[in-house]
Amino acid sequence: MSRFRIGRKGVACGVCDREFAPGDEFVSAIFEVDAEGANPADEDETRTFERLDACPGCFEKIEKPAYSHWLTSLPVDEAKQPLLDLTMARDFLVRLCREDNPERQALVYILTLLLLRKRRVKLVTERVENEVTVMDLTVKTGEGDEIEEITVPVCELSEEETTEIESELGRLFGLA
Ligand SMILES: [Zn+2]
Repeated sequence: MSRFRIGRKGVACGVCDREFAPGDEFVSAIFEVDAEGANPADEDETRTFERLDACPGCFEKIEKPAYSHWLTSLPVDEAKQPLLDLTMARDFLVRLCREDNPERQALVYILTLLLLRKRRVKLVTERVENEVTVMDLTVKTGEGDEIEEITVPVCELSEEETTEIESELGRLFGLA
């Protein structure tokens, strides 16, 4: 699986290597993959995410189902590119919340904090539920103004865990 390629050089198809021009449509997909160097006995550690940008035609030929994917186009205005990534990150958060996998709580929590900072989600309230502090948030979904309510438990993480997750999100969505 090719790595995430947005950078100064622009975005290229991870399958055929074609570089996209502004306005080109492409699919940006997140796949679940086995983590490198993970202990196979520890299921928590074995799954991670990888992003792949591909031409729509190349994407169709990938047999492995994507965790989530977006048909998008490279903004003509380069300054809009980070917004595109933020929208994907936001939809990824919604997808993770719907899945509600306890093993991904830390990822959900850090992603929420990042998106709060970028004002892509809105904190409604913080409350205690079954002795756990949770945040109720609203997030816009899709193209329109549909609003989804999500609840995210607050996690206590070490600095190391936080850094690790932040770097994974940086890799996926260019979020710093
Ligand atoms: Zn391609």
